Amino acid sequence: MERVLIIEDEEKIARFVELELGYEGYQVEKALDGRDGLEMAKTRPFDLILLDVMLPGLNGIEVLRRIRQFSDVPVILLTARDAVVDKVTGLDSGADDYITKPFAIEELLARIRASFRKKKGSGTNLHPSTLEVGRLKLDPERRDVWVGTKLLELTKREFDLLQCLMENKNIVMKRDVLLDRIWGYDFAGGTNAVDVYIRYLRSKIEEPFDLKLIHTVRGVGYVIKDE
Ligand code: CA
Repeated sequence: MERVLIIEDEEKIARFVELELGYEGYQVEKALDGRDGLEMAKTRPFDLILLDVMLPGLNGIEVLRRIRQFSDVPVILLTARDAVVDKVTGLDSGADDYITKPFAIEELLARIRASFRKKKGSGTNLHPSTLEVGRLKLDPERRDVWVGTKLLELTKREFDLLQCLMENKNIVMKRDVLLDRIWGYDFAGGTNAVDVYIRYLRSKIEEPFDLKLIHTVRGVGYVIKDE
């Protein structure tokens, strides 16, 4: 679930955005002034920040400058109508986009989606912990998987299995070891659960892209390798 922080001193707007984004499946937290917002951005992981420019105390541009000292999280500025200076200064200070108040919620949602697409498509904002095997990438923190720039939908179990294989790239993983790690010791279903999920993974990450990354080691288990 994408985590969004809104920093906005007008409680009505903050509450409205929180509700609407909540309906869309985002996990939203709000801060009602710049200092609180900055503190939250420092101490918790967010995938996106909506930042009002006109904030009491520490203004939005200053909050943005400080956020940029430690994070490249996408930031969308909420600016007053016709405040051209805000927009220019904001973009210069590292904002990814801005939206003018008052805005329609549909427009805000579209900007948010575009911002996530840009981030995922660019491939430049990968976490350092991202695992790579050939064109396949897996980000354990965001729980995202791509082949090239295509973002894939995996279930939790598929993701965990793939992560385990990728963390052990070039190492043959025994089926019972995979079973213990992914399903737990008390799982009664037997090791063919591993085979079933390997098939699911292959149908999602190999077949559509004509890749061969996961190799079967007969009678033993599986290994993921660069082609
Ligand atoms: Ca304001």
